[in-house]
Amino acid sequence: MSVIVQKYGGSSVADLERIGLVADRVVAAKRAGHRVCVVVSAMGKTTDQLLGLARQASTSPPRRELDMLLSVGERTTMALLAIALHARGEDAISFTGSQSGIITNDRHFDARIIEVRPFRIEDELSRGRIVIVAGYQGMSYRREITTLGRGGSDTTAVALAAALNAERCEIYSDVDGVYSADPRVVPAARHIGTMGYEELQEMAESGAKVLNAEAVAFAKRERIAIYARRTSDPVDAEARETVVRAEAPREAQGVRAVVGDAQIAWVHGALDEGSLAALLATADEAQVPLRELRAEGGRVSAIVSLLRVPDWERARARLEAHGVTCTAPGADTSVSLVSLVGDGLTQDGRVLRGAFDEARAANITVRSVTATPFRVSMLVGAGEADALTRRLHARFCEA
Ligand code: ASP
Ligand code: MG
Repeated sequence: MSVIVQKYGGSSVADLERIGLVADRVVAAKRAGHRVCVVVSAMGKTTDQLLGLARQASTSPPRRELDMLLSVGERTTMALLAIALHARGEDAISFTGSQSGIITNDRHFDARIIEVRPFRIEDELSRGRIVIVAGYQGMSYRREITTLGRGGSDTTAVALAAALNAERCEIYSDVDGVYSADPRVVPAARHIGTMGYEELQEMAESGAKVLNAEAVAFAKRERIAIYARRTSDPVDAEARETVVRAEAPREAQGVRAVVGDAQIAWVHGALDEGSLAALLATADEAQVPLRELRAEGGRVSAIVSLLRVPDWERARARLEAHGVTCTAPGADTSVSLVSLVGDGLTQDGRVLRGAFDEARAANITVRSVTATPFRVSMLVGAGEADALTRRLHARFCEA
């Protein structure tokens, strides 16, 4: 009998009524003849609320204790969904990440899965039970509870799909898949029916909140097809979805999506070569991943995704001790990153030239730009990202 992994995001399990609708979907999959393993996120904004509490207690909370706190969110959902399934006459059992055999490295708050030993899940599935797994969490080889980075329930789902040799991995949320831009920012955003791993990975790493970047990287490695769907769509009728899988090379090259990211800090300043090495060492020790790093002519510039750095105040002080400036959201000088994602973007000058034309026409100063064949990212003022995103989308994706 084939195994299906389904993952439900926070908004799909935000209250008991919605957990009930999820239970109905899970029952339908079970009754269609599958073994079903369900991965759940924390209810609604629970993770943000828990993080907010921790930040009230300290501006730089210890990452180990954050993992203890945040892993509670998914644990609540898993038990409630199992209870709702029992109420529907189904036999279900819930497991935490560690009970599910999700073994990670020992980097708290941003751990990576290094192995999955899903024996207990397999046993229960073969007994005919529905298995519910708390997403976003695991256990390090030192037996510490870890979490997998924001949005990490996706990673749990893909890792389990691989370990259980699942027929498919279905990711449910409040949108019916991936769009060419965030529809809240760009009303004309287009739905994407199928896409390759690489493009989605670039989108996720550029800050799109569609699917966790680590999850896409995992799916690419393990060749797991992902079906992104909307929880509220009917179970029995054909509904729109995005299928992510290894794609035949597309003939049409060019821009596929535009992504804005405002949750970033900009690290920049004058620096000689020796200090650059020291800065990089500090960033590594403080667990601050640097993106878009450029060091040239005695100057350094890099971007930090603040979602990955819960203890930013402490990290910032450590980085600034090297003489650089760190600008985070809220400051007058704060920045956003707007990225064009696609293929063959640097094959000729069309995309770069067009992107700068749009910025100039909107009176937006581009402070820095990085370009590869797959992504062009522009650093602009914090308030300018949405306008630039709409212009770039109109120029490259609506033609
Ligand atoms: N609850 C976690 C978060 O909000 C993980 C997830 O939703 O996938 O980041
Ligand atoms: Mg969540």
